[in-house]
Amino acid sequence: MGSSQTSNRYSVKWGLPEEVQFCKKCVMSNQVPSAVIETRHKNTDKKPTLTFDEDGICHACRWAEMKDSINWSEREKELQDLLDMHRRNDGHYDVIVPSSGGKDSSFAAHMLKHKYGMHPLTVTWAPHIYTEIGWQNFQNLIHAGFDNVLITPNGRVHRTLTKLAFKNLVHPFQPFIIGQKNVAPRLSIEKSVSLIIYGENPAEANSTVGNNSSPIMDREHYAISQEDLKDVRLGGVSLQELESYGISRADLNLYLPVDIQRVVENRTEAHYLSYYVKWDPQANFYYAAENVGFKVNPERTEGTYSKYASLDDKIDGFHYFTTYIKFGLGRASYDASQEIRRGHITREEGVALVKKYDGEFPRKYFKDFLEYMDIPEDGFWKIIDGARSEHLWRSMDDGTWQLRHQVQ
Ligand SMILES: [Zn+2]
Repeated sequence: MGSSQTSNRYSVKWGLPEEVQFCKKCVMSNQVPSAVIETRHKNTDKKPTLTFDEDGICHACRWAEMKDSINWSEREKELQDLLDMHRRNDGHYDVIVPSSGGKDSSFAAHMLKHKYGMHPLTVTWAPHIYTEIGWQNFQNLIHAGFDNVLITPNGRVHRTLTKLAFKNLVHPFQPFIIGQKNVAPRLSIEKSVSLIIYGENPAEANSTVGNNSSPIMDREHYAISQEDLKDVRLGGVSLQELESYGISRADLNLYLPVDIQRVVENRTEAHYLSYYVKWDPQANFYYAAENVGFKVNPERTEGTYSKYASLDDKIDGFHYFTTYIKFGLGRASYDASQEIRRGHITREEGVALVKKYDGEFPRKYFKDFLEYMDIPEDGFWKIIDGARSEHLWRSMDDGTWQLRHQVQ
């Protein structure tokens, strides 16, 4: 069976392209809504997906090739100029660095402070349930010499929103992602610091090349006019409907995009460090291990082959498990594709890793997840199986499910 076989008999969920196509260079398919659009608060019915050129190569791979011709010393000069414009010597913070204590954000914070002489304030949006290793890494970052603001949302509200997002969108991470997008811009206004520096531009992993060429995050991702606020939905539910779940407008401050007026007045601008310096998660890992005491999981992360990918939240594995169910792409597909593009592994190795790990169920914290969601196990599987699109999944006679298209 060819991987690009089409059929009109199958129904398609999640606005995905009906024809499944795999990239000839990495192991991603076209069945992936853009991460950039997903976190945008505006409702869009049609989500742009990873696009392919006429040679069957995805744009993320083409972008990775183009990066080889970037003059990185020129880019560093641009960074120097940007930092010089914002650097302060009066004891005031001059840059906000969103930071979980993970390898990438630790790298960013340390570089900005020690190589470029900035005075960063790191800000952390708390995970749903900290893992032990996640908490340790977070503490290590602080003890390596950084001021930090940890923002932990109201547990009852966060849990309710997460439950709704899982039930309505099969996207248990949606409230976390939305809150995380807003936390640094909000703090930048509260602390009167106009510069925010993120690590990697998510568009580089799965979008069209055009989205990657700007160092600045579009304000549309975190700011909104008062007038548009009425259209915001969280967990698939309108703000008004949320009141029937005991969630008032005041409970939602941390989840709502910041007022565009205040962003403009504060001159808040959010930049991606990955535009200015060559970004390599593996190199960041070694840097963070050496400089801020970053530690890996003692065991492999479920659903993939690595030990150092985002590992601070017990719910994390279910984020990737639900993408596997909805789009046929799990964590190993994402990890392997990035490593193929950076030349760390071959495509053949990537295919083998995907086949071995991609659909692995995150068993370790399943009980914690069910408890957090307050649902029974059969209720969990009902939501999961209801999320499978017929054009991706075949229901077998023995009650199991099989992907119709797998990367070859
Ligand atoms: Zn590709």
